[in-house]
Amino acid sequence: MNGEKYSVARFQPAGFDYPVLKFFQPLDDKGKQIGLSDFNECAHPHLAYREALMNIYLKRKIAVKKWLDNVELKTVLCCWCPHTRKAQQQMNLHGNFVCHTEVIGGYLRTLNSNIKIVMDEDRLFHMRRLWTWRPETLKI
Ligand SMILES: [Zn+2]
Repeated sequence: MNGEKYSVARFQPAGFDYPVLKFFQPLDDKGKQIGLSDFNECAHPHLAYREALMNIYLKRKIAVKKWLDNVELKTVLCCWCPHTRKAQQQMNLHGNFVCHTEVIGGYLRTLNSNIKIVMDEDRLFHMRRLWTWRPETLKI
């Protein structure tokens, strides 16, 4: 995808060195990773996961808004989830994978409803949706 690239992942694969947006990493304030498996015992694990991450992102709202107000028109938030072992396991078990970029997308839309969100093909076709809004279909 074209645009200014940032990493929102916890790690970047070898060969990548994008600027990191720490406030979007799926980590709580103590640095503990937030993953779907943390919510296996919940009645609705996916919704519990989304809510937990949203609560973390809401606490970082000032930093996120500051970034959002100054961001380039075309910005690409990168996470390498689809290629991780965990995501591959989820794909094999459920036919889709969960990625925190889905939560970020929903969060950004709550901050600015005019924002257009485009997904790469991995996400468009294989990511478990946690919101009901539809991503843009434009090619960028
Ligand atoms: Zn991810």
